[in-house]
Amino acid sequence: MISVGSICQFLESFAPQRLAADWDNVGLLVGDPSAIVERAMTCLTVTPESVAEAVEGGVNLMVTHHPFPFHPLRRVTTLTVEGKLLLDLSAARIAVCSPHTAFDSAANGINARLAGGLGLRQAVPLQADPLSADLGTGRIGETVDAAPLSTLARRLAGFLKIGGVQIVGDPLKPVRRVAVACGSAGDLLRTAADQGCDCFVTGETSFHNALFAQARGISLILAGHYASERFAVEALADTLSSEFGGLSIWSSRRERDPLAWISA
Ligand SMILES: [Zn+2]
Repeated sequence: MISVGSICQFLESFAPQRLAADWDNVGLLVGDPSAIVERAMTCLTVTPESVAEAVEGGVNLMVTHHPFPFHPLRRVTTLTVEGKLLLDLSAARIAVCSPHTAFDSAANGINARLAGGLGLRQAVPLQADPLSADLGTGRIGETVDAAPLSTLARRLAGFLKIGGVQIVGDPLKPVRRVAVACGSAGDLLRTAADQGCDCFVTGETSFHNALFAQARGISLILAGHYASERFAVEALADTLSSEFGGLSIWSSRRERDPLAWISA
């Protein structure tokens, strides 16, 4: 018998909560740790679509990257999106566990995987965990071939299986030292620049951070918040599947990037 608690315990060993950012809200956020799990689903975010899929699929536990709930709630009613989702989850007895920034920073977490996908050598945390130099926020490493920015950008798009990425900087400029930080990690751009990076890879950031990058001479590659993290919840479903034999688990099939491109 597999319980919600045993899966949360495994996630704790895989992505310890002490690695999570101070402002974050990680771990078991909805549900009963002693409840039995036969079917589980990973996804990036709790949304009406992912919850409907979980309800229809008879899921007992959703492992969601982004925490839900995140903000403190003073009432839980069907009159808000958050309240309705919580009521739908509890009516279907679906638990929610969110590793979030602990998963970003783990040894086999999102940023380590991104660094691996880009072929970065000797990747170490951009901001190391005080207790362990090989864990922490973001990753920083060297390209094998000092490839031009455009080649690295295409490598990232290929790894994430997306049609394209945005860049800031000269596409022909060779890139050697690269920092990666999934999601919306523009606040780490200065840290990357201070550590001598040629290039910073993240999901999304602001126009003013793009201008800052240009002024500092550090290239940027933006993959989109969704794409920079979604691949990892697919990998997490595989990890949980091999850890828990007999557990039926999949990554959400309905989840989509809410942002779409329209060509002129
Ligand atoms: Zn995110």
